[in-house]
Amino acid sequence: MTDLQGKIGIVTGGGSGIGREVALTLAKRGAHVTIADISEEGGNETVQLIEALGAKALFVKTDVSRLDDVKNYVHTTLNMFSRIDMFFNNAGIEGQVMPLADYPEELFNKVVDINLKGAFYGMKYVIQAMLKNGGGAIVNTASNAGIVGSPGVSPYAGTKHGVIGLTKTAAGEYAAQNIRVNAIAPGPTATNMMERFTQGSEEAHNQVKAGIPAGRYGTPQEVANLVAFLLSDEAPIINGAVYPIDGGLTAL
Ligand code: NAD
Repeated sequence: MTDLQGKIGIVTGGGSGIGREVALTLAKRGAHVTIADISEEGGNETVQLIEALGAKALFVKTDVSRLDDVKNYVHTTLNMFSRIDMFFNNAGIEGQVMPLADYPEELFNKVVDINLKGAFYGMKYVIQAMLKNGGGAIVNTASNAGIVGSPGVSPYAGTKHGVIGLTKTAAGEYAAQNIRVNAIAPGPTATNMMERFTQGSEEAHNQVKAGIPAGRYGTPQEVANLVAFLLSDEAPIINGAVYPIDGGLTAL
């Protein structure tokens, strides 16, 4: 498919998992992509994979919780590619699993800084650039934990609910300027995050799968197909929407 031919995208958290698969999917459809990730190794690997497809890619080492880093990935992309058409605002961490009353304040703040403030900073500076472009499309990564509660990961659930609030609000604020803002809410998806969450235990994996009507995890490619669609011109009237992609988990 070449429906994204010549478009410019930014993917945060593009060094692994869902972000990497989205970056590759955008590149396969003709886009050039900036990878903003805290991991130099993961980010550079994704760039090599994209270049092998014949697309252009750029890695910008970024901690999305740092305002200067966010300004930097936006400015570096504009310097290299002149515009930003698509933004996958995706980097996030899960924190640790423990009840709310035991949750350390420092770790709570870290999850907020990366998952919520990082998403806000990204939207703030990318929207400024898109306003100068004449428009663009943004997809923010929420989670099933942004739709329903998620015992054991209170800051994660709090921040993912927050990402949905930012999504809906920005969608309303910028629709008239041709900027669409949507969110995806993946359920358990087969990435490093799920491995960390279950600590690699077969039993824990089976327990999580047993709670999913489809009986299995989603794949990063399945999520990437949805994201590429939402970022494309195939979805011009879709704005302010939240798409669960979770095998039916949040439907029940
Ligand atoms: P992952 O751990 O495979 O990838 C996350 C990427 O984000 C990594 O490359 C990591 O280096 C990067 N990152 C972490 N902190 C960062 C920071 N401060 N600045 C920049 N980059 C940073 O995980 P994933 O499953 O691909 O997760 C991607 C997104 O999807 C996250 O927002 C996550 O909350 C969300 N999500 C994942 C699942 C799942 O089951 N895997 C479910 C719902 C939502």
